[in-house]
Amino acid sequence: MDDTFGTISQWLERVFALHRNLMRQFANEEGLQLVHVEILQYLSVCNRYSDTTQAISEYLGQTKGSISQSLGNLEENGFIRKIQDKVDKRVFHLSLTTNGSSVIKRMSKFIDLDSSDTIVPELKLLLSSIQKKHGFRGFGICKSCKFNQNVGQSNFVCGLTKEKLSLDDIHKICKEHEEQSAI
Ligand code: SF4
Repeated sequence: MDDTFGTISQWLERVFALHRNLMRQFANEEGLQLVHVEILQYLSVCNRYSDTTQAISEYLGQTKGSISQSLGNLEENGFIRKIQDKVDKRVFHLSLTTNGSSVIKRMSKFIDLDSSDTIVPELKLLLSSIQKKHGFRGFGICKSCKFNQNVGQSNFVCGLTKEKLSLDDIHKICKEHEEQSAI
């Protein structure tokens, strides 16, 4: 077996397991289930094309039925809100309420990850490299997408939807994301 592969996999698995355990512990303390905090976490970082039940189900790898059930619970308890799309009435956009955002802030404090500037770019590079090598699409950071067009003076447009993107938008994750080198 390739030593580098073995070492990276081992560290990734350990970090992932620890992170998941901490999320589960936090969820318990909040009287929530792990999937609830995973959904809230996702909604705190996804863009407006990815804030639907379908996208959450794809991202978390769970059935739409089970995600819908969790969303119903989160909505009932005031953590998320659901708003119908203005154009396509079949689509509902989900977002965090103030209560939902507070849960994410508390979770961030609870897990207390080292968010130093050196770690985040390295993780993004690793993710990007895995996606490129294996041809995975979706759920990357908008800024690195092949459809993201910088039209000058900090203005961005999505080449896929032709809609404007704000500075905030380009740092979010998107289900339509495609790596630049995939052109
Ligand atoms: S540029 Fe890419 S990642 Fe950004 S909104 Fe468009 S499709 Fe999504």
